[in-house]
Amino acid sequence: MSIQTINPSTNNLVKSFSEMTIKEVDAAIAKSTITFGDWRKTTYKERADLLHKVAALMRTKKTSLAKLITLEMGKIIAQAEGEIDLSADILDYYATNGAQFLADKAFNPEFGEAFVRFTPMGVLLGVEPWNFPFYQVARFVAPNIMVGNTILLKHASIVPQCAIAIEDLFKEANAPAGLYTNLLISGKRASEIVSDVRIKGVSLTGSELAGASLASEAGKYLKKSVLELGGSDAFIILEDAEMDKTVEWAVVGRINNNGQCCVASKRFIAVESIADEFLKKFKEKLSKLKVGDPTDPTTELGPLSSEEALIHLLDQVKRSVDAGAKVLLGGHRVNRPGAFMEPTILTGIGSDNPAYYEELFGPVASFYRVKDEQAAIDLANDSPYGLGGSVFTQDIERGKRVADQIETGMVYINHPTWTQADLPFGGSKGSGYGQELSELGIDEFAIKKLIRISSLTDPF
Ligand code: NAP
Repeated sequence: MSIQTINPSTNNLVKSFSEMTIKEVDAAIAKSTITFGDWRKTTYKERADLLHKVAALMRTKKTSLAKLITLEMGKIIAQAEGEIDLSADILDYYATNGAQFLADKAFNPEFGEAFVRFTPMGVLLGVEPWNFPFYQVARFVAPNIMVGNTILLKHASIVPQCAIAIEDLFKEANAPAGLYTNLLISGKRASEIVSDVRIKGVSLTGSELAGASLASEAGKYLKKSVLELGGSDAFIILEDAEMDKTVEWAVVGRINNNGQCCVASKRFIAVESIADEFLKKFKEKLSKLKVGDPTDPTTELGPLSSEEALIHLLDQVKRSVDAGAKVLLGGHRVNRPGAFMEPTILTGIGSDNPAYYEELFGPVASFYRVKDEQAAIDLANDSPYGLGGSVFTQDIERGKRVADQIETGMVYINHPTWTQADLPFGGSKGSGYGQELSELGIDEFAIKKLIRISSLTDPF
């Protein structure tokens, strides 16, 4: 796999990068290991000061960093700026709250004293995707720098300039060399280095295939892993949903980030009595979206991240149609240069259709009509994924009852699934395991060390 910036709005090659050699990777792991020895001795205040500095630099450079995101993966510019703000918020959040989250936790044994101290594991390998090039890194790195770990970061090969920009932010904030290091290598090589005894834990956000590859290596060498994988979130519309607002959220839920969010609303499930009304309004709104140049602030839908991603999505639509699905809207690439996909709605999807179980990573909505609430829950749960989901109803108690029965790591009532620094994020089933963000996300890679104080006369 080549490491390149290719602008997906034009499909033109902008810049190529050389992969690191085996020797260079070895030196990076060695440096990270040495730095860990020092970093683990720093105070929470020193770690927090560094994260605050990186966050401040991010905010100062927001415009140029956002432009890099848009250049490399096609996010529309306002959303790219929003991603920089969110990433800085995450760094500040852990800097502000990390020490409190990681304070010793006392236990009350029958005799003597006991507490758990959160101690760092060591060098971690993070493997991150292109769809949120700054946010994905921030939510892995910020808690772990507070814990006292050091980071090797293998970013997606299509966003090398974003990867380098993040490393530069740490350098500019005077982070010690080896605290945060980019590995410009292929995904396959990332899995291969998991066996290195100096790497103590691994985290991957991305596809199931990559996750399985990295985690099986981690399992083989008995290392902790966290996986944040794909999703096919249900967006359930019950008969008492407030229709116009629900339709607006349905559009946002599907096309945010040009349709490429793990927690995008992907399967729209409407109960029979309001299904026609929802579908008519949903189609109308999707068909009016302004598709085009993501650097133009009036654009609502930009390109997919790459030509390869577009070809994959078009193939999924074709296979779904071949298997009997109907195209209610769109279905083709946009007739212009670049990796643009029309906003698309598929209907008539049977349980043997590719669109039924596969994740559609782009502006393609699958629509289902069901007889009632229970049928909506059953359909939502008939998925290999278990990431997020939404339910729209004016009856909050009903919303909670439905949320309780959906087999995913997150359910939002009257909102598409989304993210913020102080709320936990994580999936179940084929969407992975482990937690990121909030207090729950800080100690995945901390050793919870029990320290027990007894008197010599205590019983055995
Ligand atoms: P991907 O191909 O799995 O890439 C993700 C990362 O894994 C990249 O850095 C990639 O490197 C690396 N990789 C690829 N093969 C690997 C291997 N064998 N071993 C180790 N690392 C490997 O995923 P994608 O298609 O770019 O990203 C989209 C997927 O990510 C979607 O399924 C989406 O739902 C999921 N996602 C999940 C979350 C979440 O929080 N649950 C968030 C965002 C995205 P290269 O680029 O060099 O191949």
